[in-house]
Amino acid sequence: MMRIGHGYDVHRLVEGRKLILGGVEIENGGVGLLGHSDADVLLHAVSDALLGAAALGDIGKHFPDTDERFKGADSLQLLAEVVRLLKSRRYTVVNIDATVLAQAPKLAPYIPEMRRNIADACRVLPDAVSVKATTEEGLGFTGEKLGIAAHAVCLLEQDTQIKFL
Ligand code: MG
Repeated sequence: MMRIGHGYDVHRLVEGRKLILGGVEIENGGVGLLGHSDADVLLHAVSDALLGAAALGDIGKHFPDTDERFKGADSLQLLAEVVRLLKSRRYTVVNIDATVLAQAPKLAPYIPEMRRNIADACRVLPDAVSVKATTEEGLGFTGEKLGIAAHAVCLLEQDTQIKFL
């Protein structure tokens, strides 16, 4: 059985934070995303797409921002935890396609590493993970560099066969 999922997330850009996208630390003049965790908006959108495909809620439910355990959390570890949950329900990731909406900086040089990070956490090959980046032409909150948004869709396959050994 195949199941589709969608995720969307936004974080605010502020001074004095690291900019981490897809598990990659990106040089951005000391301006980064604000959040309880590392605020990796791309990984949050991907995690929500995966949870959504399995109808298992969202990352806010699994990793609440009121919980001190997740303060400064590495979102790659949260994604890996989501994938463990999916595996326990016999889901495997078929593919992921994600888009980051950011006016700056230019993300193209970092995309191969983002794809590898996501693929490793999802236990698939990088070929199964697409990451794209676009600006919104100076429009809206991403265009004004107030924040960064990310969309993600995914396909999961569930092994529903009962195996008798
Ligand atoms: Mg988030």
